[in-house]
Amino acid sequence: RPFVELDRVTLTYGEGEEATPALDPTSLGIAEGEFVAVVGPSGCGKSSLLKLVSGLLKASSGNVVVAAQEVTAPIKIVGMAFQNPNLLPWRSTLRNVLLPAEIVQPHRARYRRDKAPYVERARQLLRTVGLEGFEQKLPWQLSGGMQQRASLCRALMHEPSLLLLDEPFGALDAFTREELWAVLQSLWMQKPFTVILVTHDLREALYLADTIYVMSARPGRILLRKNFDLPRP
Ligand code: ADP
Ligand code: ADP
Repeated sequence: RPFVELDRVTLTYGEGEEATPALDPTSLGIAEGEFVAVVGPSGCGKSSLLKLVSGLLKASSGNVVVAAQEVTAPIKIVGMAFQNPNLLPWRSTLRNVLLPAEIVQPHRARYRRDKAPYVERARQLLRTVGLEGFEQKLPWQLSGGMQQRASLCRALMHEPSLLLLDEPFGALDAFTREELWAVLQSLWMQKPFTVILVTHDLREALYLADTIYVMSARPGRILLRKNFDLPRP
């Protein structure tokens, strides 16, 4: 059974006169460890799709299943990163990355007892993305690309089995963006997790994903599924 499964899911925002259909019936299955990219025009429902998978939104009809559980409320096994890195401005890089350990159960209880393994993991993640030496800096002291690296580390801190990425590199210049593709790939290779990456950038999708879903304009539906059986390390 797929790790993430959407069965004839639809989504409409609002009701009556105000109703905005955002997703036409959408079905898909994503295997554990698969790296999926979702591409399509602005407004076609890509962000909404991620919110349905994470349980932040409830489908108007159809079923969403993640890790063999029907999604009816926000789920804990996800890590998320967005176009805006959303780092807390008063916290150092290290303490931003540690945030999920402080919040997400069962890590929260363990973290309270013994912070050391979490601090070690956060430092290790920051090393992987090239932020060694920046642990104590505040977000404003980092470049946009560095903030996005930290945001990726934070999304992975609690070892989520599913990573949801909504245009994480959309605000970066082309050079930095391509650097971060390699960063994301190296994080993924340390220990593959399932990824759903929403992007406008077809090159990004081709570089990173095993499977690409192409969506139609609003209300979105899946027009095309392309699978690339990439050689994997
Ligand atoms: P994308 O991520 O592909 O740009 P979204 O999922 O953000 O698309 O939006 C899909 C459609 O749903 C768009 O037409 C958008 O305006 C609409 N929409 C998104 N969020 C809301 C909301 N909270 N209320 C009403 N309409 C919304
Ligand atoms: P993006 O395409 O980068 O995901 P959007 O501008 O479509 O960004 O949406 C930004 C946020 O605003 C999203 O959280 C979305 O749900 C919300 N949103 C989008 N369209 C509407 C809308 N028509 N009404 C209310 N909220 C909306």
